[in-house]
Amino acid sequence: MAPSTVIVGGGVMGASAAWRLAARGHRVTVLERFGPGHDRGSSHGSSRIFRLTYADPWYVRLALRALPLWRCLEEETGRPVLTVTGAVDHGSPATVRELAATLAAAGRPGALLSPAQAAERWPGLRADTSVLLHAEGGRLHADAAVAALLAAAAGLGADVRHGVRVRALRRTGSGGVVAETGAGERVVADTAVVAVGGWSPSVLPDLVDGLPPLRVTQEQPLHFAVDDALRWPAFVHHPGAGFDEPGGVYGLGSADGVKVGFHAVGPVVDPDHRDRTPDPLAAARLEAYVRTWLPGLASAAPEPVTCLYTSTPDHDFVVDRQGPVTVLAGFSGHGFKFAPALGELAADLVEGRPGARRFALGRPMPAALR
Ligand SMILES: Cc1cc2nc3c(=O)[nH]c(=O)nc-3n(C[C@H](O)[C@H](O)[C@H](O)COP(=O)(O)OP(=O)(O)OC[C@H]3O[C@@H](n4cnc5c(N)ncnc54)[C@H](O)[C@@H]3O)c2cc1C
Repeated sequence: MAPSTVIVGGGVMGASAAWRLAARGHRVTVLERFGPGHDRGSSHGSSRIFRLTYADPWYVRLALRALPLWRCLEEETGRPVLTVTGAVDHGSPATVRELAATLAAAGRPGALLSPAQAAERWPGLRADTSVLLHAEGGRLHADAAVAALLAAAAGLGADVRHGVRVRALRRTGSGGVVAETGAGERVVADTAVVAVGGWSPSVLPDLVDGLPPLRVTQEQPLHFAVDDALRWPAFVHHPGAGFDEPGGVYGLGSADGVKVGFHAVGPVVDPDHRDRTPDPLAAARLEAYVRTWLPGLASAAPEPVTCLYTSTPDHDFVVDRQGPVTVLAGFSGHGFKFAPALGELAADLVEGRPGARRFALGRPMPAALR
């Protein structure tokens, strides 16, 4: 009989693992505590940036593995998931140069523009230094992508169950796992994939050793509803050269307007007891940024959304296996674009193949970051 896997968590990571495992003929059960499309975790909403512009070639390669899988998902389900809009990196000239070099080394198209050329092309967006246009960047339709992944997994035989909370996951004497649900049901399987996002710090320490410290924060981007929202590129404004917001600012057009956010600045929260009321001071700070740098949004009234980041000290992910338990965690605010490639990595681990050392449990953390 085909091996069985119970997947705890039906966000983009659990859904991706389900799709890739089901595609390999595994018997898959997904247990997700909330309803389809819920907004309590990290994967909801209308948009996430897809881009290849990482200074580190490792992540460029990972995004390049994800890209054909997103297209394959679209073909398999007939649902659009990724729209190419182009993406813009600007700010620190050194960072922009580094991104351009890594993109070129990967053989992917990129063009350096002057601020005047950028302003002509995207009048709503102000850049004052170097600008890198990365033609293959774009918008992942987040809610649609998660729904498509789960539909594709179900189409391949996975049992996808919403409204089922896993209360405990235990290893069995025979080397497998049993998931006990809040309703008292026991789901027995050969292996488990645990992809519980912001709930990782409360769930994973009982299951695996060597988990890096995980910081769960509530982030609060704003949507600006403007008529031309869907024509905006994805953009990242890198700190340096007179712009000093430490994590930078990102944004992109979406069906809900142009989304703009600071990266990883929100307060630490407990996902089960967080105040989802947006912080007015944080919103005011972001609006001040928009007035200076995004003149095309200045006249629109912003709408806040909240969402969870689960960050590791080194901002690398945790994708590893111990015994029958495979862990997908710590996506540090930049994991969505890679999800199907990470689903493949998880499926490899479940099948006993080695994982990526970079994403290993127990990896050394740089002392300054620990
Ligand atoms: C504001 C914001 C903007 C972002 N922008 C980008 C971007 O532009 N590009 C990009 O690549 N990435 C981006 N990210 C990051 C990306 O969205 C996340 O890395 C990704 O969504 C993490 O998915 P996940 O499956 O790990 O977590 P989640 O989506 O939170 O999924 C975990 C799931 O586990 C379920 N669960 C928890 N406990 C249990 C239990 N006991 N039993 C059953 N189910 C359980 C939860 O209900 C949840 O649905 C952004 C994130 C945020 C918050």
